[in-house]
Amino acid sequence: RFSTDSLVGQGNVRVLVRARPFLQREIESECKCLLSMDSALGTTTLSHPDDIDRSDDGSYDFGLPLSRRIKDAREFAFDESMWSVDRTTKNAQFVDQGVLYDKVGREFLDHSFEGYHTCILAYGQTGAGKSYTMIGTEDEPGLIPRTCYDLFQRIEKMTTATTTFTVKISYFEIYNEHVYDLLLPVITEPPTPLKVRESPVDGPYVKDLTTYSVRTYAEVEKFLKRGNRQRATAATNMNATSSRSHAVFTLALKKIQSDPIMDETTEETNSRIRFVDLAGSERANSTGTTGTRLREGANINKSLTTLGRVISILAESSLASKKRDVVPYRDSTLTWLLKDNLGGNSKTAMIACISPCDYEESLSTLRYASQAK
Ligand code: ADP
Repeated sequence: RFSTDSLVGQGNVRVLVRARPFLQREIESECKCLLSMDSALGTTTLSHPDDIDRSDDGSYDFGLPLSRRIKDAREFAFDESMWSVDRTTKNAQFVDQGVLYDKVGREFLDHSFEGYHTCILAYGQTGAGKSYTMIGTEDEPGLIPRTCYDLFQRIEKMTTATTTFTVKISYFEIYNEHVYDLLLPVITEPPTPLKVRESPVDGPYVKDLTTYSVRTYAEVEKFLKRGNRQRATAATNMNATSSRSHAVFTLALKKIQSDPIMDETTEETNSRIRFVDLAGSERANSTGTTGTRLREGANINKSLTTLGRVISILAESSLASKKRDVVPYRDSTLTWLLKDNLGGNSKTAMIACISPCDYEESLSTLRYASQAK
């Protein structure tokens, strides 16, 4: 069951880039599109705004025709480079929420049913599309609702007299290196940070974290909404915005094989599915930043830098176990808690979200993501 065969050659870490469409206000202020992508090669090219003109007809086609690519534009290669609007250039492919699920979500769920841990992370500056990618909207649900929906559909099909499944969920956030429960039935005021412990069997875990057994998609949806609401409320109470915290949504899937005649469990398979909406990667503006904001910024940086290093080491040495000893999981609460979902036979995908028209932030995100690759 824990053979690595199915993962050999594929690598356990995938890095994808997703560009969001222009927002209304960006169209109104006539922002230039700085990106072009080649879906076949998985490349994203970023040009400096001073180097490009708005396309001649004044339209906002997503991406420059190849002939208009700027000589010294920067090109980055990933496993996938994905567009989000329906006005494709020659080489780009339209990736909406459904297509994204087909590309990553479905396959990761396959792995979970095979007994592996998985982790999908969304990285990027605030406003680049992380929560759209993870949670989405009522009309355009993102990876989490689609995965949960598919999960219960599959369970229904696969349940037999001898094979049953249980699903438990939890939802927490990490703010300033502290962990806060997002599914408390009653919110405490001020919020109480939870302790992180390590168990020999389950690895690092959050002590006293609320978990719920769920049987239907509707139940998950209810808790997901509660968690998102609590994340927003907690942020207001801590005088912050939710973009300063990392949110971690977990599904624990257990497959139980039993012998109905002997009435006993013969085999159990456990896998953990994690979705992480990371804190906004924008640099805290150092001028005039003091106290809480400064500490917050430093902690976000520490988590994101450590995460980048962890992922890049894992990507380099997917199967060479030697290097695993030096993976710096312990350097941040985030990487420590994600340890089992990132290392070993786990599958990890990082979706780097970028805006089509912010040069500095997109450059920093593309650099971060390409280092992780
Ligand atoms: P973040 O979570 O990174 O702060 P959001 O997910 O809130 O960013 O996205 C900012 C805005 O852009 C939202 O209004 C969202 O609906 C929109 N948006 C982001 N990504 C996409 C996309 N791929 N397709 C369509 N709209 C998007």
